[in-house]
Amino acid sequence: MNYVFDPEPQVAVPVADSDAHFPVRRIYCVGRNYAAHAREMGADERDPPFFFCKPDNTIVFCPPGKTVEVPYPAQTSDYQHEIELVAAIGKAGRDIAAVRALDHVFGYAVGLDMTRRDLQSQMKKQGRPWEVGKAFDQSAPIGPIHAASKIGHPNKGALWVQVDGADRQRSDLSLLIWNVAETIANLSTLFELQPGDLIYTGTPEGVNAVQRGQTMTGGIDGLGEIKVAVV
Ligand code: MN
Repeated sequence: MNYVFDPEPQVAVPVADSDAHFPVRRIYCVGRNYAAHAREMGADERDPPFFFCKPDNTIVFCPPGKTVEVPYPAQTSDYQHEIELVAAIGKAGRDIAAVRALDHVFGYAVGLDMTRRDLQSQMKKQGRPWEVGKAFDQSAPIGPIHAASKIGHPNKGALWVQVDGADRQRSDLSLLIWNVAETIANLSTLFELQPGDLIYTGTPEGVNAVQRGQTMTGGIDGLGEIKVAVV
């Protein structure tokens, strides 16, 4: 193919304990999927799930045991962490029944849905799209993907993020309002899911700002930890 410039390489996330990589297609994110976080954002916790997207090239892979540096983003003074379970889709489908939905999951990872909260709040207030708050460069740190064939489908277990060693968010996957299967069922009525799609499944309460010079450690039971330093 005679491209006018070199295309970006395929974004891919390493699979844990393997030399294989998971090629990323789309990144879907679920809004307000833990009751206590919905309340802290001023929403009704019984609202149905809703979705937004980030481009695939917002991914920042965080290898286990290493601290990855991410620059403080432009045009914000309220750069916030959201720790999330990420489900990685391995099999296509639309209108997927919840009882069959987990068959479509290749594996799971720890992710951070980094957010320019001040810009997101302005856009929300004005009824405008969220991209400037959510889809900026390097806004989707992620750890290795653990194959469901090895670890199963986590539906309980702690998730947390610490900043410089102090707890900021700590909750449990069992407190998801819409679990992974229900989320896939709902999302697949709107979009035909494809292998390579990632779903950031939402964050619990305790979202808060991070500053230059601080380090976030995010983890989920059974999926390890990721470390991101803001520079
Ligand atoms: Mn989120």
